[in-house]
Amino acid sequence: MPSKNFVLGIFGGGQLGKLLAIAAKRLKIKTCIYTNSIDSPAIYYADDFIIGSYLDKKKLNIFIKKVSILTFEFENIPFSILKNLEKNIPIFPKPEILKTLQNRISEKVFLNNIGVKTTEFKKLKRNKLKSLDNNFFPILAKTINLGYDGKGQTFFKNRSEIIKYKFPNDQYILEKIVNFTKEISVVIVAYKNKIFAYEPIENLHSEQILRQSISPARINRNINEKAKTIAIRIAKRLNYRGVMCVEYFLKKNGDLLVNEIAPRVHNSGHLTLDSYNVSQFESHIRSVCNLQSIQPKKIKNAIMKNALGKNIYKFRERKSNNKEFFYDYGKMYVKEKRKLGHLTKVY
Ligand code: AMP
Repeated sequence: MPSKNFVLGIFGGGQLGKLLAIAAKRLKIKTCIYTNSIDSPAIYYADDFIIGSYLDKKKLNIFIKKVSILTFEFENIPFSILKNLEKNIPIFPKPEILKTLQNRISEKVFLNNIGVKTTEFKKLKRNKLKSLDNNFFPILAKTINLGYDGKGQTFFKNRSEIIKYKFPNDQYILEKIVNFTKEISVVIVAYKNKIFAYEPIENLHSEQILRQSISPARINRNINEKAKTIAIRIAKRLNYRGVMCVEYFLKKNGDLLVNEIAPRVHNSGHLTLDSYNVSQFESHIRSVCNLQSIQPKKIKNAIMKNALGKNIYKFRERKSNNKEFFYDYGKMYVKEKRKLGHLTKVY
């Protein structure tokens, strides 16, 4: 058990930070949130918080004096900042891991180097667009860094389309579109000496945003085992601590391609709150704070739906029964496609 003065610092104040802070409180772990926005629901559930820019060295120094270890709810904190903070405070997962995974190209190179398949990709070279093979299309161009929920992504059907497009710079990855049959994800939790995998979750996206997650994923036993084995192998090779999520495309021939790795708790894992003996949030707190490990066990099947933008009003009005659990994140601003809540049904 950590000492009485132990405080867990969490970077980011959104719904993931909020659900982490709630899980920490149940475990009697004090938290301090650092966020760059006043619209941060997590601050109401933490013991302390600071609102400041992720580049504000003065405020960051105050923050790390308040906390014993650091973790994060989103992966786009500049690596140079974390590397500096790490001189004074332990950070889990390690900033080096974030450095690899923040960049869509180094992430795929790492995966391919350890024998894990990914989508076919190329780095954008604006002066070489004419030499792109037409068989490489259709593609999605994605920003190499800082993309999420389809932000910074553009679809190109063929070479003539991309030749006409004005990219502002070369910081894009071109990814061949995968004709997948399903998208699945595996949440793992890595403790100091052991790694556990949650059951694979099936994910339905529209306009590149997760809309619905189903647990367990409707896949055969072989694919189920393969997905968990690959995720655990990735975590081992990264020397990972904490919760991590691996997102896959499943192809008709049974191939699993990793789309991306989230070095944090993940939207698809929200359903673990109501359908497992231990949620992804509690698992993350337990692993980074070095508390006793709990092996995740599915106790119910579940479907989770995201409440995006103005849809939140309908979710709020809906009457829930005793098999439905609604989470309203309590964000101030209702913006189109913004994740504002979710509803999990268990069965
Ligand atoms: P990402 O931001 O890379 O996770 O992409 C969000 C979603 O867009 C994915 O979950 C897929 O539904 C879709 N997507 C992204 N990349 C590809 C791809 N190469 N082929 C097919 N669909 C993709």
